[in-house]
Amino acid sequence: MIEQLKIVLKKYWGYDAFLPLQQEAMLSAVSGRDSLVVLPTGGGKSLCYQAPAMAMKGLTIVISPLISLMKDQVDALTECGIPAARVDSSLDQVERDEVFERVAKDELKILYLSPERIMSAGFMDYLARIKPAMIAIDEAHCVSMWGHDFRPEYRQLGRLKQCLGGIAIHAYTATATQHVRDDIVEQLHLKDPKVLVGSFDRPNLVYRVKPRADRIKQVCEVMDRHKNESGIVYCIRRKDVDEICAALKVKGYKAAPYHAGLNDETRRTNQDLFIKERIDTIVATIAFGMGIDKSNVRYVIHTGLPKSLEHYQQESGRAGRDGLEAECCLFHSGGDFHTWKRLLGDMEQESARIALDKLGDMYTFCGSAECRHAAILRYFGQTLDKDNCGACDACLDEIDQVDDALVIAQKILSCMVRLEQRFGSHYVAQVLTGSKEQRILECGHDRLSTYGLLSEHRIRDVRQWIEQLASQGYAQKVGEYNVLQVTKAGWDVLKGEKTPRLLKPAAGPAKTSKVAKDSWEKVDRGLFEHLRSLRRELAEKSSIPAFVIFGDAALRDMARKKPCTREAFLDVSGVGREKDKRYGKTFVQEIQNYLRRAGRYEDDDD
Ligand code: ADP
Ligand code: ZN
Repeated sequence: MIEQLKIVLKKYWGYDAFLPLQQEAMLSAVSGRDSLVVLPTGGGKSLCYQAPAMAMKGLTIVISPLISLMKDQVDALTECGIPAARVDSSLDQVERDEVFERVAKDELKILYLSPERIMSAGFMDYLARIKPAMIAIDEAHCVSMWGHDFRPEYRQLGRLKQCLGGIAIHAYTATATQHVRDDIVEQLHLKDPKVLVGSFDRPNLVYRVKPRADRIKQVCEVMDRHKNESGIVYCIRRKDVDEICAALKVKGYKAAPYHAGLNDETRRTNQDLFIKERIDTIVATIAFGMGIDKSNVRYVIHTGLPKSLEHYQQESGRAGRDGLEAECCLFHSGGDFHTWKRLLGDMEQESARIALDKLGDMYTFCGSAECRHAAILRYFGQTLDKDNCGACDACLDEIDQVDDALVIAQKILSCMVRLEQRFGSHYVAQVLTGSKEQRILECGHDRLSTYGLLSEHRIRDVRQWIEQLASQGYAQKVGEYNVLQVTKAGWDVLKGEKTPRLLKPAAGPAKTSKVAKDSWEKVDRGLFEHLRSLRRELAEKSSIPAFVIFGDAALRDMARKKPCTREAFLDVSGVGREKDKRYGKTFVQEIQNYLRRAGRYEDDDD
């Protein structure tokens, strides 16, 4: 059976090997044992049911929560030469009847359905009559109220098992929490399911977390590392989206905004421009992203603190789904905490408390000097199996800790005490740096023993340290004016019993991570750019997203192997038979032309 799956993988997708746990998941599907497969975004979940569907007799039903996702999947399958279709509310009656006709004629292998469709009157009986081979449930966490995207329609899917005579059901999700997993098994009535949980680490993502200073400058720096590549810039508020987007446009970047304040049509247009790669960057609130499975997003920038590590993992996880290196940068400030607190304000008490706790965890993550991959994994109950990930600011040595953290922390904390714990961080920082501001002089705070103790540092840096002390629990902000108070742990620091971590931003530029080096290894970048434009033109002509034609990984492999014959073209990872048939000639020709221009290709005519 494994051999057969491998043949299918090569023939339709052009892949030579399984990704971690794919083989186990596929075997479970072909053997008809229920399964719950938990893999991170980009882990290759779709192939876990699509490849078995092609290796098995009969029709596979896939249930997916979003029309846009279904559409992309069906487009991608069709491009691979797989007979697939979807039935959802965006089709009219004629189109739907056409699909059912293809089902009746046994012409389809994979059928995508929305949960509403399955539960509509008489549909279950119809399904029982056509006897599908298996049911795959995508984004299965939507059945759980504990998850982040609960969908009431998904709840009904619990009836499938019984109504369809115990049919094999396979559930797929990227949700990491145990609670949600147990709930999925229970709600869907999975029978003795094979549970497969992959590592949540995304080694191809490079994380960088920095205090926010000049946000436009910081955003541009990241974007300039990714010229002509796709990326998402997330903002907390609509106002920030509009401001940042406008500033980027003035500087000549190809960007468009996305948030709930724009009308449907503008949102749709901007999203479309992004997917078709006519703009590089979408600037958005977190309303953007669900249902986007653009595989070649090369950077995700957060211009403010995300709501929780779950949110951060999900939002930053939209980068690099194709497994190639991608950069996730987060610029935060203490003020974000309060912005969120205000936005969360009207939640009922219990949920507000949970939300605040999660926000606190997120804040601590930002202020820490620990490996980012390790910290995220730990949050989700897993451990990183290496000491240095080579793909985060901490491990790349881009953040340094100050050597005299204890002394600096003591100066800051004792200044809070001298100020009778009645002032906020800006004021405390002003006193420490020896500001001559009127208010300080009037209060006589220039006569405090802590006045000017940190005058050799910039006020901005002192404020950052105050934030770091707060995020590590040595000080807390209290009341409407966020006055700083020293906590019990803070007193331990004053007594010299504990040493906080204080960071100094490194002066040097961002370094290149190992993942980035590896995935560009031997790739002719000029050729890659050529193939990328070719892909964009072809996509434009046939109105499908560019990455559906070939992913970035396949293009890089072409620009690496430079195949000049159709036979060699089939060797490229990500080129299956149908893709070769459709695009082989055009791409091989482009490669030949490129090499000829570079004087590196000789054919018989020359
Ligand atoms: P998920 O749904 O888990 O986020 P996808 O199914 O979208 O992940 O797959 C992520 C990317 O990995 C896609 O570009 C897909 O084509 C690619 N992929 C999947 N399986 C393999 C494989 N065995 N070898 C190489 N690439 C793969
Ligand atoms: Zn690391």
